[in-house]
Amino acid sequence: MHIIDHWIDGSATSAHSTCTAPVYDPATGRPQASVLLAEPSDVDIAVSAAAKAFESWAESSLSQRTRIMFAFRDLLVRHEDELARMISSEHGKVVDDARGEIARGREVVEYACGIADALKGSFSDQVSRDVDVHGFRQPLGVVAGITPFNFPIMVPMWMHPIAIATGNTFVLKPSERDPSASRLVAELYAEAGLPAGVFNVVNGDKVAVDALLEHPGVAAVSFVGSTPIAKHVHERATATGKRVQALGGAKNHAVVLPDADLDYAADHLTAAAFGSAGQRCMAISVAVAVGAAGDDLVELLERKAKAVRVGPGGDASSDMGPVVTDAARERVINAVARGDEQGATVVVDGRGCTVAGHEDGFFVGPSLLDGVTAEMDVYREEIFGPVLAVVRVETVDEAIALINSNPYGNGTAIFTGSGEAARRFQRAVRIGMVGVNVPIPVPMSYYSFGGWKDSLIGDSPIHGPEGVRFYTRAKVVTSRWPRTEAAFSFPTSL
Ligand code: NAD
Repeated sequence: MHIIDHWIDGSATSAHSTCTAPVYDPATGRPQASVLLAEPSDVDIAVSAAAKAFESWAESSLSQRTRIMFAFRDLLVRHEDELARMISSEHGKVVDDARGEIARGREVVEYACGIADALKGSFSDQVSRDVDVHGFRQPLGVVAGITPFNFPIMVPMWMHPIAIATGNTFVLKPSERDPSASRLVAELYAEAGLPAGVFNVVNGDKVAVDALLEHPGVAAVSFVGSTPIAKHVHERATATGKRVQALGGAKNHAVVLPDADLDYAADHLTAAAFGSAGQRCMAISVAVAVGAAGDDLVELLERKAKAVRVGPGGDASSDMGPVVTDAARERVINAVARGDEQGATVVVDGRGCTVAGHEDGFFVGPSLLDGVTAEMDVYREEIFGPVLAVVRVETVDEAIALINSNPYGNGTAIFTGSGEAARRFQRAVRIGMVGVNVPIPVPMSYYSFGGWKDSLIGDSPIHGPEGVRFYTRAKVVTSRWPRTEAAFSFPTSL
């Protein structure tokens, strides 16, 4: 069976790793490769290579870094088909959806192509007699990225293009469920002319993550994944003095008002709840139907959920592929069962879904539950599967209160024809990313991405200007080129 190895210091290597984990094809339910699981000593080799590379990479010119980013961007375009199929075969999502994540990741590379502008410093002339001040930002050193399975290209690309373009070197620990795309990215960076050691991939699990968190050679850690692990990463890495950004899980609500175009809202909710089998951090998992919107909305959602074509991600006629593992499938099935037991109405039941010719695949169909309340497990837990819970409320204010009392705060959306309601909603919700008639409001690469509350531990959102700030530290230089003699009195602004 094919072994997915590491990429360290410009070449493929197994380093000291002997343990492996299976990488499944979720559409067949069968292992298709094995991925190496790094030992702490492998992590050390990668961090040492990155530290060595940092010495020269931090001295590289902005022009050189920009040229490499442009070349890398072109290679991503040329390899899009290969990458999309690779993602689909390990993650399960449909190929067009994988293309979508590649495009969104590439936009961060495009932002990094303009790094010279983003890194411009500041200058104040004559702050005191014959004294000038200028400020600029410098890279941190070796930075690590630890990423989830659900966007194997896009989420790492929220990190490494900006880290590298700002002069850092990078060690990526991708998800062990779908690691191949990251290995190909390493090869594309090398082809684009990135020097050895600037971008490294260490495959592995918790052992590799903990080794990165403890390693004294790592200056900063970017993490995206579930909230409990985000909290662990934040706690451990800050305890060892590292800068940390840690994005966690989500429970995203979409509020539908009676004055919305309900057919439009139902179309978008169906795609946002069941696209990628609900395994998106910005997936809509709760529809909050306000007042008279409820009955018509549920009827429309039922019809549209039943029309979702479930099948292998590589099949062009599928709207939705399998979930990533058998354990994920079980989790979804149990969540729907608990919703049923706790009093929700299961309007569409995805539990019995099978796909002809793929009976062992990790398939589960779309599920729609009505009459869900804030006390039920199906509302409280992040299911991370194709389950849409409908909560009914009477007013927009009730909807806002529900959203604000939820511990997660990643994304939310409102569907309405009222500018007044939309404006009130966007100002009042305690959520990091808000959509108005847009169900999945993932910010463009020149803004930053980040939730509030338990969806982001610490205070650093990712990519865009916040990414540049995260991967650099500020320095301020006060300079004088005197013609006069030095004085012993304390300097004043004369
Ligand atoms: P996960 O938290 O299980 O894994 C994320 C990373 O942490 C992986 O690289 C994994 O190897 C590592 N890891 C897992 N368990 C660990 C442990 N005990 N100690 C140290 N490291 C560990 O997440 P996942 O299942 O891969 O991804 C889905 C989760 O990610 C969902 O909760 C989803 O909401 C979240 N997510 C959030 C965002 C966001 O922007 N906020 C984006 C994508 C995914």
